[in-house]
Amino acid sequence: MKIGLSSGCAYKLFNKIAKDTGLNLENDYLNSVICIYRLLQKKIKFNAFELILIDKFIKHYDLSLENYIWLKNLDYFSVHLMGEYKRKILDDIERFPYIDFLICHIDKKNNLPPTFFYKYSDKILYENIDFVKYDFKVKDNICFDIAHAETTGDIKDQYVEYRENIKEIHISRHDLNHKIINTHHLPLNKNMYSFEEMYGLNKLPIIIESTCNSIDELIKEFKYVKKVIFNKE
Ligand SMILES: [Zn+2]
Repeated sequence: MKIGLSSGCAYKLFNKIAKDTGLNLENDYLNSVICIYRLLQKKIKFNAFELILIDKFIKHYDLSLENYIWLKNLDYFSVHLMGEYKRKILDDIERFPYIDFLICHIDKKNNLPPTFFYKYSDKILYENIDFVKYDFKVKDNICFDIAHAETTGDIKDQYVEYRENIKEIHISRHDLNHKIINTHHLPLNKNMYSFEEMYGLNKLPIIIESTCNSIDELIKEFKYVKKVIFNKE
């Protein structure tokens, strides 16, 4: 069982947690964010983590030894590439310990530098995005985002169509008030989707991307997803 959180889940709580614990988000964003998830792991027993690589991380990029070891010991670790990839992403990525997969939104596929493909072709997952019916090639490995799929048709039908190539699942609920690309990922709050019909889901790494307003809400969200997909408390 691999189930975990995206680094986006608790972003609304970052400032408060940093203030309470003395973390320096301003000067050491990357390490502070990872520390926040290490703290959350004491309350939520996750073993997978998706780090969304945003530009804020560039300034202070050296991982602390504790964070490096924590990432290395996870059962599953993926890095979500964001932005236009103008930065030297190859150098950035080499600073991390073992990465299971690198995720790129399907519409940004052509922005990746060719050198990237030579080195990481077997590690790249293309993720479906909102409102765009995607056209994956047979060989493409896929990160299937359920909230994004909600905007392009029946979730289960799309899951079944691409199941063979799906290597990671993102879970949250689409915010129907935002009819633009870039979902505002909402919590499921116990009332969405019939995961039971999506066979094989429990064999895949599950990353929760719901952005929560409190730690309690995040704990509830995690418990709910774990119960529905893995039938475990
Ligand atoms: Zn996603």
